[in-house]
Amino acid sequence: MTEKSPVSAGRIAFLGLGHMGEPMAVNLIKAGFDVVGFDVVPAAMAAATEAGVPCATSAAEAVTGASVVLTMFPSGAILLDAYRGAGEPGLLEVAPPNTLFLDCSTIDVAQAREAAELTVAAGHRSADAPVSGGVVGAEAGTLTFMIGAEESEIEQLTALLEVMGKKLVHCGGHGAGQAAKICNNMLLGISMIGAAEAFVLGEKLGLSHQALYDVISTASGQCWAVTTNCPVPGPVPASPANRDYVPGFAGALMAKDLGLALNALEDAGVAAQLGPLAAQIYRKFADEGGAGRDFSGIITDIRDGSQA
Ligand code: NAD
Repeated sequence: MTEKSPVSAGRIAFLGLGHMGEPMAVNLIKAGFDVVGFDVVPAAMAAATEAGVPCATSAAEAVTGASVVLTMFPSGAILLDAYRGAGEPGLLEVAPPNTLFLDCSTIDVAQAREAAELTVAAGHRSADAPVSGGVVGAEAGTLTFMIGAEESEIEQLTALLEVMGKKLVHCGGHGAGQAAKICNNMLLGISMIGAAEAFVLGEKLGLSHQALYDVISTASGQCWAVTTNCPVPGPVPASPANRDYVPGFAGALMAKDLGLALNALEDAGVAAQLGPLAAQIYRKFADEGGAGRDFSGIITDIRDGSQA
């Protein structure tokens, strides 16, 4: 057994066994880690148990005796409540001293920094490692992790995260992983709106989708929103546009991430114009039927809002 073997990592309490958490926990178990799961929704726990994740009856039970607490929650408010405890002892109080609190959720940068401060003040260690790659990446173990942690944590984090992901980027200290994630996703939201506007303009000017794609994909407008997630059917057969915008990356998640970007832009006092506008556009998209559609479906709104 080597020093870095899964067994020496101790027990991992995996909290939040939703779309992403369950397959991530399963991959840790397959790699030989000792994992105990918990979710507040009984159906999520039942599904995780069925998938082979042993579950505790409470978060406190899962965390007692753990050396790592890995969270995959919907929001930072939920994370902070769980850490502090809402009316009962929080995870920071229940966990053994020097536990590594590893949050892989996508949350507000300011809340990630607050969570790290609380964690360190309680005598534990902290890391944020939000992901990209979606449910497909979680199942395949090919996620990208953006890590915000002290250098001294990287060796242990690498042993854990490389089981669930294929690319790990150490972005800096506490909160830096969340910061990198929302900067990237803000650019993604803006570039998808730009790609969609370009294709609708091309339609109006009589260009075929393929002709415009052939130019953009090899010219200076080239971007992931066009070459991988092309908002029109045809040029990129695997893009969600070819299957009626079944996600992919859902509009609800893009709206959420742009909301987090908006908070960070305001906190940092950035003179941004497109980030806030993209947040507004995707909030409307999500609220008016796009929540469960791929975010490239924004092109439909642009087309529908254009003159006949
Ligand atoms: P999800 O809603 O499917 O899962 C979250 C789970 O957390 C739920 O099962 C919920 O019951 C559970 N939960 C909530 N509060 C809890 C608590 N106090 N204790 C234990 N469990 C609790 O969401 P998801 O799609 O799995 O996403 C999880 C996180 O990953 C989010 O922050 C999301 O933004 C991020 N993310 C998701 C995707 C994606 O494609 N789904 C991609 C990248 C990042």
